[in-house]
Amino acid sequence: MSEFMVEADQVHKAYGHNHVLRGVSMSVRPGEVSCLLGPSGSGKSTFLRCINHLESIEGGSIRVDGELIGFRERGGKLHELPAKEAAAQRRDIGMVFQRFNLFPHMTALENIACSPITVKGEKPQVAQAHARELLEQVGLSEKAAAYPSELSGGQQQRVAIARALAMRPKLMLFDEPTSALDPELVGEVLEVMKQLARSGMTMIVVTHEIGFAREVADTVTFMDEGVVVEQGSPHEVLVDPREARTRDFLSKVL
Ligand code: ADP
Ligand code: MG
Repeated sequence: MSEFMVEADQVHKAYGHNHVLRGVSMSVRPGEVSCLLGPSGSGKSTFLRCINHLESIEGGSIRVDGELIGFRERGGKLHELPAKEAAAQRRDIGMVFQRFNLFPHMTALENIACSPITVKGEKPQVAQAHARELLEQVGLSEKAAAYPSELSGGQQQRVAIARALAMRPKLMLFDEPTSALDPELVGEVLEVMKQLARSGMTMIVVTHEIGFAREVADTVTFMDEGVVVEQGSPHEVLVDPREARTRDFLSKVL
């Protein structure tokens, strides 16, 4: 196992003339939780999408568990991986989005068991048994046969987490997983994430939930306009920030 589960080094990404990521670096050790904060438009979602190569980067490098993401080094040059190989890397990286994008025509159990069967070729019985374990882990054992439309937003998001875990990822990326939820449903999703953190999963979490970040994060990164403004322990960044931009942001979200 590598010293770091994630090593992003000087990552650059532009959309046309919009230089969205301007040298973003971040390291996450196995089992650590890293929270990423910043104003809307600062590049947080783009950075997460670069980590699983849903977006290609133009400069710098990203390694997950020691493996270069999206590219191969040959003759001192970087060559982008064929789509199939990039997809294979992505399989090991779970992602949960703001909107619980479950398949509406499948039950909770089918949503969770689907990718292991179709993508990994797991036997249906094996995938379904694992899906039931995961439903129990997210506190939804009794909802195996429910369709997404029969579940609350918080329950749907917990199914989405279980679905990502079904692929047995070595890294989980969360992009504002509670931002679309009614306030009374936020807690149950954060609780599942805390439990996942305690179980030793490596996680990068984009969130505005400062309480969660203070309690669960090993490191906190504050980003603005595509650069890392401040990075450190939750106490350093959230309680005693050095930078005016960090203080200004915190005063708005707290
Ligand atoms: P955040 O998640 O921090 O709110 P984003 O990563 O979504 O920020 O966006 C950062 C910038 O990149 C914004 O200016 C946004 O308009 C731009 N952007 C994001 N995705 C795309 C895209 N697919 N095409 C063009 N511009 C994009
Ligand atoms: Mg975003």
